[in-house]
Amino acid sequence: MAFSDETRNELARVIPSARCCRLAELSAFYDLDGMLMGTANQYLDFTTSAPVVARKVLTLLRSLYPEISAQVLVRRSRSRRTQNCTVRILDTQEALAVYEEMRSQNYAAKGRYLRKKCCRRAYIRGAFLSHGSITNPERTYHLEISTDHSQAAERVLASIKSFHINAGVTQRKGSLVIYVKDGEDIVTLLNLMGAHQALLQFENVRVLKEMRNQVNRLVNCETANVDKTIKAAMSQVEDIRLIEEHMGLDELPAKLRQVAKLRLENPYASLKELGDMCVPPMSKSGVNYRIRQLREKAAEIARLYK
Ligand SMILES: [Zn+2]
Repeated sequence: MAFSDETRNELARVIPSARCCRLAELSAFYDLDGMLMGTANQYLDFTTSAPVVARKVLTLLRSLYPEISAQVLVRRSRSRRTQNCTVRILDTQEALAVYEEMRSQNYAAKGRYLRKKCCRRAYIRGAFLSHGSITNPERTYHLEISTDHSQAAERVLASIKSFHINAGVTQRKGSLVIYVKDGEDIVTLLNLMGAHQALLQFENVRVLKEMRNQVNRLVNCETANVDKTIKAAMSQVEDIRLIEEHMGLDELPAKLRQVAKLRLENPYASLKELGDMCVPPMSKSGVNYRIRQLREKAAEIARLYK
């Protein structure tokens, strides 16, 4: 099952205990779908694509209005590949009562988001269940909620941002899309909505990915260092060969000659290893000094014979 569906199924089972939050979550469905009072205000519809979500809407409605008479209608597309579920409140008086309560939700002064934190969390969850999706973290970090209604988009965006989560908004095919791209932010959001299973799964992937990156970085770094050492050693060998060819190593002072011969015999040894092979042993900086002298000598010869 797709990660997005798993997340949705998990969230569909979360029923907030406080009445205020149930109302807030239901009002997200109302906001994002732009509520449909049926012909001549006879009934009220909550439309969603997933049966699990329709069941949740029904549960929320029945818990808020125990006497309500509602039914779930399922419509399949002609290809039978997608389906639409509609939760319909049949009684006109009941429909109007719910409609009014949704409309009079208690938004903050600027009319942008709900006052209480608990309700904002429920609102974001409702918005995600209504029109949200999340990409499998193996691919990329991306969570989005889309809606055709600018006021709803503003409210969702403000609610998410009220928890110090970075969210952006963009347009796609005439719809407004609110998105979160940062892995850390998505984890925070999943936690706020109550998707704890999805959160664990997301974190597992994130840790593995991070480890893989770190290993790759280390391997690249190591390879680069080894390359550098080998290149340096090869150019030292070239220098010494040049001296040997045009001047002979025996003409060199004893300490220089010893380092030169050891380098030719041990092209891949480190400077420290070369120092240890010397008799008497030489420090790393001592070897380095001789290597530099050999390079200067070689450069001199190269100038003479060019
Ligand atoms: Zn609440």
